[in-house]
Parts: sequence; C-alpha cells; structure tokens
Amino acid sequence: MVLVTGGSRGIGAAIVRGAAARGHRVAFSYVTNAGAATALVDEIAAAGGIALAIQADVADPSAPARLFDAAEALDPVTALVNNAGVTGRLGRLADLPLDALCKTIDTNLTGTILMAQEAVRRWEATGTPGRMVNISSVAATLGAPGEYVHYAATKAAVEAFTIGLGKEVAGRGIRVNAVSPGTTMTEIHAAGGNPDRPAQVAPRVPLGRVAEPEEIAAAVLWLLTDEASYVAGTVLRVGGGV
Ligand code: NAP
Repeated sequence: MVLVTGGSRGIGAAIVRGAAARGHRVAFSYVTNAGAATALVDEIAAAGGIALAIQADVADPSAPARLFDAAEALDPVTALVNNAGVTGRLGRLADLPLDALCKTIDTNLTGTILMAQEAVRRWEATGTPGRMVNISSVAATLGAPGEYVHYAATKAAVEAFTIGLGKEVAGRGIRVNAVSPGTTMTEIHAAGGNPDRPAQVAPRVPLGRVAEPEEIAAAVLWLLTDEASYVAGTVLRVGGGV
C-alpha cells in the first residue's frame, strides 16, 4: 500500500493515479476538497483499482497515526509520499503575515517530519524495507525572491531532512529520497494569487515549458521501485533544466 499526503489534486493526484495504474493499493489524504478526493477514488475504482481517501490536515500532529491506522486497516503501508504542501500568498517577506508563515512551516516541514517519524517507527518495528519520497521544490536552491522565500526555506529544510534521515535509516533497508520539481501545472499557483505563474515562468525554463504533474509523478514512482534500489538519501531534481 502506498500512502500519499495531499493526493486529491495536482502532483499528489498524479502520483495516486500512477501508483494505482501500477497495481498498488493507494491511500491518500486531503484537507478540504472532499469532492476532488471522492472523484479520484471513484475514478480509480472504475479502472479496477483500490484507493482510500482520508481527510487529515498534515499540520495536525494527530494526523500521522490516524492516516497510517486508516490505511493499514486495508493493507500494510510500504511506501510513503510526503507531497502535501502550500506556498501561502505570493509576495515579499516583509508583507508575510505570521499565520501564513506558520501554516507553511507546519504543513511543509513539520507535517513531513511527523509523517516520516510515524513511518520509520512502524517500519522499524515490523522490519519493513519501506520507501519514502518527500516532495521538495527547486525553490529550495533558487530561493524564490519576491514570491515566497519562506516556502523556499521549508523546502530546503525538507531536503536537509531527507539527506539526514536517508542516511540514518538506510542500514535498516529503508530508502528515503526527495523529488524537487520545477514549476508544474497545478492549482497551487492560483491558490497563491497568480494563476498565470506557469505561463510567466515557462520562458525561463531551459526545456521551454513547465512540467505536467505526471512528469513529476514518474520520478516519484520510479524511486518507489526496485529499479531505484541503490538510491538513498538524495534529492532528484525534475526541473526541466532549471
Ligand atoms: P495543489 O495542486 O495545490 O494540491 C495540493 C494538495 O495538497 C491537495 O490535494 C490538497 O488537498 C493537499 N493539501 C494541502 N494542504 C494540506 C494539508 N495541510 N494536509 C493535507 N493535505 C493538504 O499542489 P501541487 O502543486 O500539486 O503541489 C504538491 C507538492 O509539490 C507540494 O509539496 C508543493 O510544494 C510541491 N511543488 C509544487 C510545484 C508546482 O509548481 N506546482 C513546484 C515544486 C514543488 P485539498 O484538495 O483538500 O485542498
């Protein structure tokens, strides 16, 4: 069973679809958009797969145990994708409200760390050679000035966390990696207040366009396979050359 946080829309939904298409049972979380979550569960069921949607805000410290318990009622979780993430409104740091800062840190960083901790505790207790992929962003190295430097900081922290945890648990047969996407065609840009952002970014991307969610999902799904058996504690950049 693959567990994906923030799987109802965007990159997370592409990961859920891809995992189901490869024959995995999938559990995924969403926070507010129950309609999108239900539609995805129905779509996967219609294709002969099994998906479970669970409402849980990863910024809530009780979410990890609840998510794992719900998923494991169906099947043991052998793979975790920490995908849920928010940017907050685009703008300069001087204008960033405290609540937006806290929400971004709690969702992107604390949520990822607490989910990872729950996974590692369970996998170590059962001797499961689990696989984890944390979703970062090219913002972690570009810094995202004028847009969301606080978001970039959370993603840089996710990358440092991935490298450290990857080394810490590799000896137990657990592989922890990150994927660092470039700008991808999802609703996250509209949520941040600039739906035209993908079109504005595209000319600056060496490949000349932004990513489709499926192109990010492909890298994540590869890291979950045995083809990536020697990949641990690293960050795979999927940025179109950025
Ligand atoms: P998106 O289209 O806005 O979708 C976000 C998903 O996360 C939704 O399923 C949403 O659930 C869920 N979510 C948000 N906050 C959550 C929370 N606190 N707890 C649980 N679920 C939550 O975002 P996206 O563009 O696919 O981004 C996915 C990941 O990729 C994020 O980590 C983002 O930082 C990263 N990323 C995105 C881009 C890009 O250009 N799109 C580039 C680099 C990295 P609801 O449906 O209930 O709202």
